[in-house]
Amino acid sequence: MRQAARLWQPAAILPALWLAGCAAPAAMGPLPATTAALPPGWFRAAQATTPACEGAGRRVHAGFERAALAGCRIDADGHVHVTVAPESRPINPSPWYGFVVASERPDETPVTLHYDGGKHRYTPWQAVPGGVPALLAADRVNIAADRSAATLRLPPAPAQLVIAQPPETVERVLAPFEARVRAGQLTRVDAGHSRARRPIAVYHHRPANPRGTVVILTRQHPPETTGPQAFATFTDMLLGNSRAARAFRARHALMIVPLVNPDGFVMGHWRHNLGGVDLNRDWGPFTQPETRALAGAIDAEAARGPILAVIDFHSTFRDVVYAPPKPADTDLGEAMLQAITADLAGADIRIDRAHNPGNGVLKSWARDRFGVGALTWEVGDDSPADRTQRLATAAATALMAQANK
Ligand SMILES: [Zn+2]
Repeated sequence: MRQAARLWQPAAILPALWLAGCAAPAAMGPLPATTAALPPGWFRAAQATTPACEGAGRRVHAGFERAALAGCRIDADGHVHVTVAPESRPINPSPWYGFVVASERPDETPVTLHYDGGKHRYTPWQAVPGGVPALLAADRVNIAADRSAATLRLPPAPAQLVIAQPPETVERVLAPFEARVRAGQLTRVDAGHSRARRPIAVYHHRPANPRGTVVILTRQHPPETTGPQAFATFTDMLLGNSRAARAFRARHALMIVPLVNPDGFVMGHWRHNLGGVDLNRDWGPFTQPETRALAGAIDAEAARGPILAVIDFHSTFRDVVYAPPKPADTDLGEAMLQAITADLAGADIRIDRAHNPGNGVLKSWARDRFGVGALTWEVGDDSPADRTQRLATAAATALMAQANK
Protein backbone atom coordinates (compact mmCIF):
# COMPACT_ATOMS: atom_id res chain seq x y z
CA MET A 1 0.00 0.00 0.00
CA ARG A 2 1.00 3.56 -0.55
CA GLN A 3 2.00 4.22 3.05
CA ALA A 4 4.85 1.76 2.65
CA ALA A 5 6.63 4.50 0.75
CA ARG A 6 6.78 6.68 3.84
CA LEU A 7 10.17 7.66 5.14
CA TRP A 8 10.75 6.55 8.70
CA GLN A 9 13.99 8.33 9.35
CA PRO A 10 14.19 10.06 12.71
CA ALA A 11 13.62 13.76 12.67
CA ALA A 12 16.85 15.73 12.82
CA ILE A 13 15.27 18.53 14.79
CA LEU A 14 15.34 20.13 18.15
CA PRO A 15 12.94 18.59 20.65
CA ALA A 16 9.43 19.78 19.94
CA LEU A 17 8.85 21.04 23.44
CA TRP A 18 7.82 24.51 22.44
CA LEU A 19 4.62 23.41 20.89
CA ALA A 20 1.41 24.05 22.74
CA GLY A 21 0.18 20.76 21.31
CA CYS A 22 1.77 19.02 24.29
CA ALA A 23 -1.10 20.22 26.47
CA ALA A 24 -4.03 18.03 27.40
CA PRO A 25 -6.96 18.05 24.97
CA ALA A 26 -9.62 20.65 25.64
CA ALA A 27 -13.24 19.71 26.11
CA MET A 28 -15.17 19.22 22.89
CA GLY A 29 -16.98 22.25 21.53
CA PRO A 30 -18.78 23.09 18.31
CA LEU A 31 -16.74 22.30 15.24
CA PRO A 32 -16.09 23.96 11.91
CA ALA A 33 -18.84 24.05 9.35
CA THR A 34 -18.99 21.19 6.89
CA THR A 35 -17.48 21.50 3.47
CA ALA A 36 -18.83 20.78 0.01
CA ALA A 37 -19.61 17.27 -1.21
CA LEU A 38 -16.73 15.39 -2.81
CA PRO A 39 -16.86 15.59 -6.61
CA PRO A 40 -18.54 12.82 -8.60
CA GLY A 41 -16.16 10.01 -9.33
CA TRP A 42 -14.06 10.63 -6.24
CA PHE A 43 -15.33 7.48 -4.52
CA ARG A 44 -15.04 5.43 -7.71
CA ALA A 45 -11.41 6.47 -8.04
CA ALA A 46 -10.65 5.74 -4.39
CA GLN A 47 -12.30 2.33 -4.65
CA ALA A 48 -10.32 1.54 -7.80
CA THR A 49 -7.10 1.58 -5.74
CA THR A 50 -5.64 -1.63 -4.35
CA PRO A 51 -7.28 -2.34 -0.97
CA ALA A 52 -5.10 -1.93 2.09
CA CYS A 53 -7.04 -4.90 3.52
CA GLU A 54 -10.15 -6.87 2.60
CA GLY A 55 -12.32 -9.67 3.92
CA ALA A 56 -15.78 -10.58 5.19
CA GLY A 57 -17.43 -8.57 2.44
CA ARG A 58 -15.46 -5.39 3.24
CA ARG A 59 -12.50 -3.52 1.84
CA VAL A 60 -10.44 -0.59 3.09
CA HIS A 61 -8.83 1.75 0.54
CA ALA A 62 -6.13 4.31 1.25
CA GLY A 63 -4.85 5.20 -2.21
CA PHE A 64 -5.97 8.80 -2.48
CA GLU A 65 -4.84 12.30 -1.55
CA ARG A 66 -4.69 12.78 2.27
CA ALA A 67 -5.30 9.07 2.93
CA ALA A 68 -3.32 7.58 5.79
CA LEU A 69 -3.23 4.36 7.70
CA ALA A 70 -0.22 2.38 8.84
CA GLY A 71 -1.98 -0.98 8.57
CA CYS A 72 -5.36 -2.64 8.67
CA ARG A 73 -7.04 -6.03 9.03
CA ILE A 74 -10.59 -7.30 9.03
CA ASP A 75 -11.86 -9.93 11.48
CA ALA A 76 -13.95 -12.86 10.27
CA ASP A 77 -17.05 -11.11 11.63
CA GLY A 78 -16.31 -8.01 9.56
CA HIS A 79 -14.84 -5.80 12.33
CA VAL A 80 -12.23 -3.51 10.75
CA HIS A 81 -9.02 -2.64 12.62
CA VAL A 82 -6.92 0.30 11.44
CA THR A 83 -3.49 1.17 12.85
CA VAL A 84 -2.75 4.90 12.98
CA ALA A 85 0.98 5.65 13.24
CA PRO A 86 3.20 8.67 12.55
CA GLU A 87 5.37 9.15 9.50
CA SER A 88 8.50 9.45 11.66
CA ARG A 89 9.42 9.88 15.32
CA PRO A 90 9.70 11.72 17.64
CA ILE A 91 6.63 13.68 16.70
CA ASN A 92 3.90 15.81 18.18
CA PRO A 93 0.67 13.90 18.75
CA SER A 94 -1.60 14.80 15.85
CA PRO A 95 -2.76 11.32 14.79
CA TRP A 96 -4.08 11.66 11.27
CA TYR A 97 -6.11 8.99 9.49
CA GLY A 98 -8.05 8.85 6.26
CA PHE A 99 -9.50 5.83 4.41
CA VAL A 100 -12.52 4.60 2.50
CA VAL A 101 -14.49 1.64 3.82
CA ALA A 102 -16.42 -0.29 1.17
CA SER A 103 -18.95 -2.88 2.28
CA GLU A 104 -21.19 -5.30 0.41
CA ARG A 105 -23.09 -6.04 3.60
CA PRO A 106 -26.34 -4.54 4.91
CA ASP A 107 -25.14 -4.12 8.51
CA GLU A 108 -23.15 -1.40 10.27
CA THR A 109 -19.36 -1.57 10.04
CA PRO A 110 -17.39 -1.45 13.29
CA VAL A 111 -13.96 0.16 12.83
CA THR A 112 -11.40 0.39 15.61
CA LEU A 113 -8.64 2.97 15.27
CA HIS A 114 -5.53 1.78 17.13
CA TYR A 115 -3.18 4.67 17.85
CA ASP A 116 0.54 3.92 17.79
CA GLY A 117 2.57 6.84 19.11
CA GLY A 118 -0.31 9.13 19.98
CA LYS A 119 -3.76 9.36 21.52
CA HIS A 120 -7.15 9.93 19.96
CA ARG A 121 -7.36 13.63 19.04
CA TYR A 122 -9.52 14.26 15.97
CA THR A 123 -13.20 13.32 15.90
CA PRO A 124 -13.78 11.49 12.62
CA TRP A 125 -15.53 13.08 9.68
CA GLN A 126 -17.56 10.87 7.41
CA ALA A 127 -18.80 11.27 3.86
CA VAL A 128 -20.78 9.06 1.48
CA PRO A 129 -21.01 9.51 -2.31
CA GLY A 130 -23.09 12.60 -3.07
CA GLY A 131 -23.33 13.55 0.60
CA VAL A 132 -21.93 16.55 2.45
CA PRO A 133 -19.08 15.55 4.80
CA ALA A 134 -20.06 15.72 8.47
CA LEU A 135 -18.75 14.79 11.87
CA LEU A 136 -19.59 11.23 12.77
CA ALA A 137 -22.31 11.41 15.45
CA ALA A 138 -20.93 11.26 18.99
CA ASP A 139 -22.97 8.13 19.80
CA ARG A 140 -21.11 6.36 16.99
CA VAL A 141 -17.65 7.05 18.49
CA ASN A 142 -16.47 5.13 21.54
CA ILE A 143 -13.08 6.38 22.79
CA ALA A 144 -11.02 4.08 25.03
CA ALA A 145 -10.50 5.38 28.56
CA ASP A 146 -6.77 5.86 27.90
CA ARG A 147 -7.53 7.32 24.43
CA SER A 148 -5.21 4.77 22.81
CA ALA A 149 -8.05 3.54 20.58
CA ALA A 150 -11.46 4.58 19.33
CA THR A 151 -14.17 2.33 17.93
CA LEU A 152 -16.46 3.80 15.29
CA ARG A 153 -19.86 2.40 14.36
CA LEU A 154 -20.26 3.27 10.68
CA PRO A 155 -23.77 3.27 9.21
CA PRO A 156 -24.49 0.80 6.41
CA ALA A 157 -23.19 2.20 3.11
CA PRO A 158 -21.58 0.72 0.00
CA ALA A 159 -18.71 3.20 0.42
CA GLN A 160 -17.81 5.88 2.92
CA LEU A 161 -14.84 8.09 3.67
CA VAL A 162 -13.58 8.27 7.25
CA ILE A 163 -11.07 11.08 7.80
CA ALA A 164 -9.61 12.98 10.76
CA GLN A 165 -10.70 16.44 9.56
CA PRO A 166 -13.02 17.76 6.83
CA PRO A 167 -11.79 16.46 3.47
CA GLU A 168 -9.60 18.92 1.58
CA THR A 169 -7.42 18.63 -1.48
CA VAL A 170 -4.54 20.72 -2.81
CA GLU A 171 -6.84 21.88 -5.60
CA ARG A 172 -9.51 23.08 -3.16
CA VAL A 173 -6.95 24.76 -0.88
CA LEU A 174 -5.52 26.78 -3.77
CA ALA A 175 -8.83 27.37 -5.59
CA PRO A 176 -9.76 30.74 -4.01
CA PHE A 177 -6.34 32.14 -4.88
CA GLU A 178 -6.29 30.63 -8.36
CA ALA A 179 -9.63 32.37 -8.97
CA ARG A 180 -8.04 35.69 -7.98
CA VAL A 181 -5.14 34.98 -10.34
CA ARG A 182 -7.61 34.40 -13.20
CA ALA A 183 -9.37 37.63 -12.23
CA GLY A 184 -6.05 39.48 -12.45
CA GLN A 185 -5.91 40.39 -8.74
CA LEU A 186 -2.99 38.14 -7.75
CA THR A 187 0.12 36.77 -9.43
CA ARG A 188 1.34 33.27 -8.68
CA VAL A 189 5.09 32.77 -8.45
CA ASP A 190 6.03 29.37 -7.04
CA ALA A 191 8.82 29.67 -4.47
CA GLY A 192 10.24 26.32 -5.51
CA HIS A 193 9.40 22.70 -4.90
CA SER A 194 8.89 20.32 -2.05
CA ARG A 195 11.03 17.26 -1.60
CA ALA A 196 8.63 15.31 -3.87
CA ARG A 197 8.71 18.14 -6.44
CA ARG A 198 5.29 19.54 -5.63
CA PRO A 199 5.17 23.28 -6.27
CA ILE A 200 5.10 25.65 -3.31
CA ALA A 201 2.60 28.21 -4.52
CA VAL A 202 3.05 31.84 -3.49
CA TYR A 203 0.46 34.46 -4.42
CA HIS A 204 1.56 38.06 -4.74
CA HIS A 205 -0.20 41.38 -4.80
CA ARG A 206 2.06 44.33 -5.60
CA PRO A 207 0.86 47.86 -6.25
CA ALA A 208 3.11 50.56 -7.63
CA ASN A 209 5.56 51.83 -4.98
CA PRO A 210 4.30 49.84 -1.98
CA ARG A 211 5.35 50.79 1.56
CA GLY A 212 6.23 47.16 2.15
CA THR A 213 4.89 43.63 2.27
CA VAL A 214 2.71 41.65 4.68
CA VAL A 215 3.54 37.92 4.55
CA ILE A 216 0.84 35.38 5.45
CA LEU A 217 1.35 31.62 5.58
CA THR A 218 -0.34 28.42 6.73
CA ARG A 219 -0.32 24.61 6.61
CA GLN A 220 3.22 23.93 7.74
CA HIS A 221 1.56 21.08 9.69
CA PRO A 222 -0.70 18.85 7.58
CA PRO A 223 -3.67 18.00 9.85
CA GLU A 224 -4.30 21.54 11.03
CA THR A 225 -7.64 22.78 9.75
CA THR A 226 -9.01 25.51 12.03
CA GLY A 227 -5.90 27.69 11.62
CA PRO A 228 -6.25 27.57 7.84
CA GLN A 229 -9.90 28.59 8.30
CA ALA A 230 -8.72 31.72 10.13
CA PHE A 231 -6.17 32.22 7.33
CA ALA A 232 -8.97 31.98 4.75
CA THR A 233 -11.09 34.63 6.49
CA PHE A 234 -8.06 36.84 7.10
CA THR A 235 -6.85 36.77 3.50
CA ASP A 236 -10.42 37.18 2.21
CA MET A 237 -10.67 40.39 4.23
CA LEU A 238 -7.39 41.79 2.89
CA LEU A 239 -8.29 40.86 -0.69
CA GLY A 240 -11.92 41.95 -0.40
CA ASN A 241 -13.75 44.90 -1.81
CA SER A 242 -14.19 47.02 1.35
CA ARG A 243 -12.96 50.59 1.31
CA ALA A 244 -10.28 49.71 3.89
CA ALA A 245 -9.10 46.71 1.88
CA ARG A 246 -8.83 48.71 -1.33
CA ALA A 247 -6.93 51.48 0.46
CA PHE A 248 -4.67 48.90 2.08
CA ARG A 249 -3.85 47.19 -1.20
CA ALA A 250 -3.16 50.49 -2.92
CA ARG A 251 -0.09 50.98 -0.71
CA HIS A 252 0.90 47.53 0.52
CA ALA A 253 2.16 44.36 -1.11
CA LEU A 254 0.98 40.92 -0.02
CA MET A 255 2.69 37.56 -0.13
CA ILE A 256 0.35 34.65 0.60
CA VAL A 257 1.34 30.99 1.04
CA PRO A 258 -1.69 28.68 1.52
CA LEU A 259 0.23 25.37 1.66
CA VAL A 260 3.77 25.41 3.04
CA ASN A 261 4.02 21.61 3.31
CA PRO A 262 2.30 20.09 0.26
CA ASP A 263 3.96 16.67 0.58
CA GLY A 264 2.89 16.18 4.19
CA PHE A 265 -0.60 17.40 3.33
CA VAL A 266 -1.02 15.02 0.40
CA MET A 267 0.58 12.07 2.19
CA GLY A 268 -1.62 12.39 5.29
CA HIS A 269 1.28 13.11 7.63
CA TRP A 270 0.82 13.97 11.29
CA ARG A 271 3.31 16.82 11.21
CA HIS A 272 6.47 16.45 9.12
CA ASN A 273 7.49 16.87 5.50
CA LEU A 274 8.85 13.96 3.46
CA GLY A 275 12.26 14.51 5.04
CA GLY A 276 10.83 13.61 8.44
CA VAL A 277 11.30 17.18 9.66
CA ASP A 278 8.92 19.57 11.41
CA LEU A 279 9.18 22.51 9.04
CA ASN A 280 8.32 24.94 11.83
CA ARG A 281 11.59 24.01 13.54
CA ASP A 282 13.62 24.44 10.35
CA TRP A 283 13.55 28.25 9.96
CA GLY A 284 17.22 28.79 10.71
CA PRO A 285 18.72 25.38 10.08
CA PHE A 286 17.07 25.38 6.62
CA THR A 287 17.77 21.72 5.99
CA GLN A 288 14.59 21.26 3.92
CA PRO A 289 13.65 22.40 0.41
CA GLU A 290 10.32 23.89 1.53
CA THR A 291 11.80 26.24 4.14
CA ARG A 292 14.79 27.10 1.95
CA ALA A 293 12.53 27.98 -0.96
CA LEU A 294 10.20 30.11 1.11
CA ALA A 295 12.98 31.89 3.00
CA GLY A 296 14.51 32.70 -0.38
CA ALA A 297 11.21 34.06 -1.63
CA ILE A 298 10.70 36.18 1.50
CA ASP A 299 14.28 37.48 1.28
CA ALA A 300 13.69 38.36 -2.38
CA GLU A 301 10.57 40.24 -1.34
CA ALA A 302 12.58 42.02 1.38
CA ALA A 303 15.07 43.12 -1.28
CA ARG A 304 12.23 45.00 -2.99
CA GLY A 305 10.96 46.74 0.15
CA PRO A 306 10.43 46.29 3.86
CA ILE A 307 8.68 43.24 5.27
CA LEU A 308 6.02 44.76 7.54
CA ALA A 309 4.60 41.72 9.35
CA VAL A 310 4.68 37.92 9.13
CA ILE A 311 1.63 35.94 10.22
CA ASP A 312 1.63 32.14 10.37
CA PHE A 313 -1.64 30.29 11.06
CA HIS A 314 -1.74 26.95 12.93
CA SER A 315 -4.05 24.81 15.05
CA THR A 316 -3.60 23.28 18.47
CA PHE A 317 -5.74 22.28 21.45
CA ARG A 318 -6.82 25.84 22.25
CA ASP A 319 -6.69 29.42 20.97
CA VAL A 320 -3.27 30.97 21.57
CA VAL A 321 -1.30 33.68 19.82
CA TYR A 322 2.49 33.63 20.09
CA ALA A 323 3.72 37.16 19.58
CA PRO A 324 7.28 37.91 20.62
CA PRO A 325 7.63 41.44 21.85
CA LYS A 326 8.94 43.92 19.39
CA PRO A 327 7.94 46.45 18.37
CA ALA A 328 6.98 49.99 18.09
CA ASP A 329 3.47 51.39 18.37
CA THR A 330 3.16 51.43 14.63
CA ASP A 331 3.82 47.72 14.28
CA LEU A 332 1.09 45.90 12.38
CA GLY A 333 1.45 42.68 14.30
CA GLU A 334 1.05 44.60 17.54
CA ALA A 335 -2.07 46.36 16.22
CA MET A 336 -3.63 43.04 15.34
CA LEU A 337 -2.79 41.60 18.69
CA GLN A 338 -4.44 44.55 20.40
CA ALA A 339 -7.58 44.01 18.32
CA ILE A 340 -7.72 40.34 19.21
CA THR A 341 -7.16 41.06 22.88
CA ALA A 342 -9.82 43.75 22.95
CA ASP A 343 -12.30 41.56 21.15
CA LEU A 344 -11.67 38.67 23.48
CA ALA A 345 -11.54 40.48 26.81
CA GLY A 346 -12.55 37.82 29.27
CA ALA A 347 -12.69 35.12 26.62
CA ASP A 348 -10.55 32.06 26.40
CA ILE A 349 -7.50 33.03 24.38
CA ARG A 350 -3.92 33.12 25.51
CA ILE A 351 -1.43 35.71 24.31
CA ASP A 352 2.14 34.51 24.76
CA ARG A 353 4.80 37.20 24.46
CA ALA A 354 7.79 34.91 24.97
CA HIS A 355 10.59 35.12 22.44
CA ASN A 356 12.82 32.09 21.92
CA PRO A 357 15.34 33.09 19.29
CA GLY A 358 17.00 30.33 17.37
CA ASN A 359 14.27 27.74 17.89
CA GLY A 360 13.63 27.29 14.19
CA VAL A 361 10.09 28.65 14.39
CA LEU A 362 9.09 30.87 11.49
CA LYS A 363 7.88 33.78 13.62
CA SER A 364 11.10 33.87 15.64
CA TRP A 365 13.21 33.83 12.50
CA ALA A 366 11.10 36.51 10.84
CA ARG A 367 11.07 38.76 13.90
CA ASP A 368 14.83 38.71 14.20
CA ARG A 369 15.59 38.88 10.49
CA PHE A 370 13.24 41.73 9.65
CA GLY A 371 12.74 43.36 13.05
CA VAL A 372 8.98 43.38 12.73
CA GLY A 373 5.97 41.86 14.40
CA ALA A 374 5.67 38.18 13.62
CA LEU A 375 2.83 36.06 14.96
CA THR A 376 2.07 32.39 15.23
CA TRP A 377 -1.70 32.28 15.49
CA GLU A 378 -2.93 28.94 16.82
CA VAL A 379 -6.66 28.23 16.58
CA GLY A 380 -8.12 25.55 18.85
CA ASP A 381 -8.99 22.25 17.18
CA ASP A 382 -12.56 22.63 18.43
CA SER A 383 -12.90 26.43 18.40
CA PRO A 384 -16.29 27.34 16.93
CA ALA A 385 -16.04 28.44 13.31
CA ASP A 386 -18.04 31.63 13.97
CA ARG A 387 -15.67 32.71 16.75
CA THR A 388 -12.66 32.03 14.55
CA GLN A 389 -14.21 34.02 11.74
CA ARG A 390 -15.00 36.93 14.08
CA LEU A 391 -11.43 37.01 15.42
CA ALA A 392 -9.82 36.78 12.02
CA THR A 393 -12.09 39.54 10.77
CA ALA A 394 -11.21 41.77 13.74
CA ALA A 395 -7.51 41.11 13.28
CA ALA A 396 -7.56 41.87 9.56
CA THR A 397 -9.58 45.02 10.22
CA ALA A 398 -7.06 46.16 12.83
CA LEU A 399 -4.12 45.42 10.55
CA MET A 400 -5.62 47.41 7.70
CA ALA A 401 -6.61 50.31 9.96
CA GLN A 402 -3.08 50.50 11.35
CA ALA A 403 -1.47 50.18 7.93
CA ASN A 404 -3.77 52.76 6.37
CA LYS A 405 -2.84 55.46 8.92
ZN1 LIG B 1 1.09 23.85 13.64
